[in-house]
Amino acid sequence: MEEKSNKSHILVLPIPVQGHINPMVQFSKRLASKGVNKVTLVTIYSISKNMPKESGLINIESIPHDEKSPPQNIDPMLEWFQLLVSKNLRKIVEKLSDSVYPVKVLVFDSVATWAIDLAHKLGLKGAAFFTQPCCLSAIYYHMDPETTKVSFDGSDVSLPSLPLLTKEDLPSLIYDTDLYPTLRGLIFSQNINFKKADWLLFNTFDALEKEIVEWIRPRYPIKTIGPTIPSMYLDKRLKEDKEYGLSLFKPNSETCMKWLDSKEIDSVVYVSFGSLASLDEQQMEELAFGLILTKCYFLWVVRATEENKLPEEFMSKLSEKGLMVNWCPQLDVLAHRSVGCFFTHSGWNSTLEALSLGVPMVTMPQWSDQPTNAKFISDVWQIGVRVKVGENGVVNRDEIASSIREVMEEEKGIILKENAMKWKNLAKEAVDEGGSSDKNIEEFLSNL
Ligand code: UDP
Repeated sequence: MEEKSNKSHILVLPIPVQGHINPMVQFSKRLASKGVNKVTLVTIYSISKNMPKESGLINIESIPHDEKSPPQNIDPMLEWFQLLVSKNLRKIVEKLSDSVYPVKVLVFDSVATWAIDLAHKLGLKGAAFFTQPCCLSAIYYHMDPETTKVSFDGSDVSLPSLPLLTKEDLPSLIYDTDLYPTLRGLIFSQNINFKKADWLLFNTFDALEKEIVEWIRPRYPIKTIGPTIPSMYLDKRLKEDKEYGLSLFKPNSETCMKWLDSKEIDSVVYVSFGSLASLDEQQMEELAFGLILTKCYFLWVVRATEENKLPEEFMSKLSEKGLMVNWCPQLDVLAHRSVGCFFTHSGWNSTLEALSLGVPMVTMPQWSDQPTNAKFISDVWQIGVRVKVGENGVVNRDEIASSIREVMEEEKGIILKENAMKWKNLAKEAVDEGGSSDKNIEEFLSNL
């Protein structure tokens, strides 16, 4: 009789964008660090070609594709990705399954909601991996236009386990109905995961979203497994885990670190809007002159495609106080002693990184989950301040400068820093041996 293997091969499938690959690679490393199982990250060729074939503990499997790179815009890219994976997944599962390590589970990006059906058809269990916090999913769950049949009328919303939310606190896709129809459709269809997926894995930790987790837990198979920050910055248990292992943009590491080394403790504002957000020209100008007004040092990440929006007058003043780079090693920057404040779009990874490293924030959310993250950052976790948007939709330079000063120079900054340090310790506790996320990862593996 053929013996059944009690080992498994776990496939992990993020959508191909930086903010989703990072946490899913990190989660894969944690899974692999627990021993007997094999873990393979499945990603498109144009991304895997820049990754080592084996990223330390995990294997990388590339999905070949014709085009030089995937479509640049989000909606066509998501449609393209769905088609590509649907065509190739069976082949990949067959190729990677062997008698010792049969493929048993697909951990898929919660936004790729179509993947659960693919997994089940192939006889695999499916775990939806949410790269956003639980509060976001709770909002989408309660405000799903399909099930509620009420469209959002702009008034404040009161939902179970969440603070009262104004329109400005809600994820933008609730009311931005035309901007990215495919993405919006997928975001809400994530609710399918609640019904169909065998597990719901969230890149967050229990203490951070206690009430929401407690609301979801008796209803759905939720497991918090974060924050998925490289171990070196948190519990230090995974000796090799020093970085995310993939940068879609090339970081100017040496320039950044040298410059930061020359600055005093807590004297620098680090400014970044992540890998996708794009500010319009007027907003760039206000931000540029707002930074100059503060008289603080600043390190500003302006992606190459955004650079042409900077005013010339600013460029000539830049060298006195600021360093501008196209991309940086963000974790090292946030961990640097000279950085006293993170001015950010409050993307979820950036938020978890700031929180895990104890850096107070100024948030200027742009879209998607960022407004909700910003609400929690300022009002629930109290680790940052949020800028006020003017009536013309732009945040002006005085508001930018005064928000930074609040964190860098005023009493408020000390309190924010203390809170940030408290969360830093709780984040480390969660992933360290016996912590809530650590236990959840072990439980997930023992249930395979
Ligand atoms: N990041 C980086 N260098 C930069 C800017 C960002 O390494 O100059 C990383 C950052 O550490 C984070 C990710 O890119 O892990 C951005 O993810 P987030 O969810 O914050 O924002 P998104 O790019 O998805 O909007």
